[in-house]
This record gives sequence, C-alpha cells and structure tokens, in this order.
Amino acid sequence: MSDSRSAALFAAARRLMPGGVSSPVRAMGAIGREPFVVARGEGAELVDVDGRRYIDWVVSWGALIAGHAHPDVVAAVTARTAAGTSYGAPCEGEFELARLVVELVPSAEMVRFTCSGTEAAMSAVRLARAVTGKSRILKFAGAYHGHADPFLAEAGSGLATQGIPASPGVPEAVVKETTVVPWNDRQAVEQALDGGEFAAIVCEPYPANMGLVPPQSGFLGFLREQADRAGALLVFDEVITGFRVAVGGAQEREQVVPDLTVLGKVLGGGLPLAAFAGRRELMEQVAPSGPVYQAGTLSGNPLATAAGRVAVELARDRALRARLERTTSELAGGLRELARELGVPLYVAEVPGLLCPFFASQPVRNFEDARASDAKAYAAFARAMIERGVFVPPSRFEAWFPSFAHESSHVERTLIAARDALAQAAAEAALAA
Ligand SMILES: *Cc1c(COP(=O)(O)O)cnc(C)c1O
Repeated sequence: MSDSRSAALFAAARRLMPGGVSSPVRAMGAIGREPFVVARGEGAELVDVDGRRYIDWVVSWGALIAGHAHPDVVAAVTARTAAGTSYGAPCEGEFELARLVVELVPSAEMVRFTCSGTEAAMSAVRLARAVTGKSRILKFAGAYHGHADPFLAEAGSGLATQGIPASPGVPEAVVKETTVVPWNDRQAVEQALDGGEFAAIVCEPYPANMGLVPPQSGFLGFLREQADRAGALLVFDEVITGFRVAVGGAQEREQVVPDLTVLGKVLGGGLPLAAFAGRRELMEQVAPSGPVYQAGTLSGNPLATAAGRVAVELARDRALRARLERTTSELAGGLRELARELGVPLYVAEVPGLLCPFFASQPVRNFEDARASDAKAYAAFARAMIERGVFVPPSRFEAWFPSFAHESSHVERTLIAARDALAQAAAEAALAA
C-alpha cells in the first residue's frame, strides 16, 4: 500500500486539504486505513489510480442509483454542456425536472432546487419557521440533515432535552432551538412536543445515517398525528430515500404525506442538485412569490437538471426497480446466511434499495442500539472487504447502496469476499474481547 500511487497522492493531499478529503467520512478514519484514490467509475465498479478494481456499494453515497457513468446520463450531460453550463436565468430543463418531482412525490406540489441537501434542509426549516411563526425544531438522535447549524445538535442527558452543539463553531443559541429525541420513541416525541412550541418535526423517514434504522410499524403515521396536534410541520428528509425505496420515496411506500420534503442525491443523477418541495400554499411563501428568502447562483442549472431527469426517469422503470429490490434482498439475505453459518452475531437491516449489517445480536431500533454495535468488528470487516476489492462504507453508521448497475455476479463476488471478511472480523473481535 505504502508504495502505491494512491498512497503517494493521498500523502500529498493531506498537506493541501484537511484530512486530504472534501468530506470527512471519505478519509476512512473510522476503519483505520487510508482511502484509495479513484481514477474512474464504471457501472457498479470503481477503478483506483493503481488500476485496482472495486465492487462499489457506496456509489457516491447513494447519489448514483443508475451506477457510475450511465450512458444515458453521460449523453444528456454531454449534450447540455455544449449549450452552456449555467445561465443565471430560467431554463426548460429545471421546469421539466420540477414537473417530474411534482408528478412522482406525493407531498410535492411545488419545488425549489438547490445545489446540496444541506442547503435544501436548512431552507425547509427556515420555511417551516416562517409559516408557523415558531422557532423550535424536533429531530432524532443519529439522523443527519446536512451540516447547517440547527441540525448540528446532539441530545443532552436524559430524554427530550434541548440540543447541545455537536461541533465547535455552532452557537449554543442556535441549537437550543433544536430538541433531539430517540428514534422510534413515541413517548419522547409526545413529551417533547408538550414542552414547547414547535415549527417542525424533521426526520429521515427511513434513517440511513446511523446505519439503517427503519421506523417501527405506525411510527411515521404517529409523527404525522403529533405534528398536526402540535401545529408543527412534518418535514421528511428524503435525500437518501427519495426515488430509491420507492419512486415516490418513503412517503409513497408508507402512505404518510409530510408537509415538506427534502430531496437530493438520486435527484441530481450524480451532479450537485437537491430540492425542497411541498404544498403550494407553503412553497408560495418562498421568495420571490413570498417573503422567505432563499437563493443560489448555480441552483437548477442545466447540467444537473439534465442528469437528474435521466436518473429519475430510470428510477421509475419497473424492471430496474425490481432488479434493485432483488439485489438488496440477495445481498442482505446472503450476509445473514453467512453470519449464521459462521456464528457471527450480525443484524442486517433492509428496505428496498438500502441495507446495513450491524455487528449486533439484537435488532437495532435507534441510535443508542446502533452505537452499541461492535465498532471494531465492523472496522475489521470493512478493511478486509476493501482489501478484497469490495468497497463497503468505511463506517458502521452508513447504509450500503445497491444500484441498477449491480448484477447477481456482483452480489456473488461480494458474498465470497464477505465469508473471509466476516471470519476475520470475528477473530479480531474475539481477540479484542
Ligand atoms: C446526504 C444527506 C444530506 C445532505 O446532503 P448534501 O448534498 O451532502 O449536503 C441531508 N440529509 C440526508 C438524509 C442525507 O443523507
């Protein structure tokens, strides 16, 4: 590794960029190794600068539902590029993508495009605060909504306490307005809402940033009722789940319609694009039709909206969706089977298009459970997988992302690597214990 081109490039990068990366998890610190440096992506695979190939279950953290360099996405972006990459004026591409979002996402009557999920989530909260005239938001421990200040709150001690800053530089005054409660905990939600005036309940309907922790039966419907009772808006952050767990997202699958929805990742087809969307009377409060300020130089640009349109059109293809569901269940089922054979305690969470193996012997219901899973075992497992040419998330708190480009052969090769990697993880965990 140390004499590889990856290692040399990364050593130099660390002097140029904090941690050598543009986003922290890429540094692979949680699993105790350095990243490989990518040369190119092809379908379900990555090739690094040393020519090593990896089956890719990260796929740009779920942004590439069609896999790397899908020919239709490449063609659409290439064709648009020659006509200019950004206008700072309206273009048809954004109207066409907006029409698709409104057609497919149950809660979406109008949409505003942004360049990142962070911006979209931040703007959705601003809108919720503006229309309700209240400032508190309720979020769930372990949920991620981008890195805007109001979301960088951690739970204080005890249930349903006001947030404390999760990062230096986040003002206490800002996160005091954020209440953090455990996911899947009805009582904590009720208690919190009774204790203050809330603008919004914000959740990932299928949380996928603490590993994958689906809601218990009826929990999303309960949040809908509680938001109505409290006069708060219900905001679904479907940046990961949108166009993935169903074409209309978790809200379509669960038949629970939020007031506002945050979209990203799949929506941009691998280019920087995200959005917030919702009911007309709410969205009409956004500038310039209303007073709530929100803007962006590159928002809705023709390249990203062209890529997004192709990706979203592919995401509604029934045959591709069926393949995605099959890939997910074959991989999740295969991992469970191997773990059983090898006697490794593994709990594999799964919804169509997402899965996550936790080194835990009990089902994982919230962030506390996720944190109680075996970090050393996951790190050893992930290192062993990457060494065997299978790129799995370099953190136990990230979901795995099947794409339309993954075929049964990728699942088979992944499970062959996983047999060795699970055995190695079990051996290392036993040594550590
Ligand atoms: C990735 C993600 C975000 C942030 O999106 P960026 O484009 O990285 O800013 C927000 N919410 C969820 C649920 C995400 O997974």
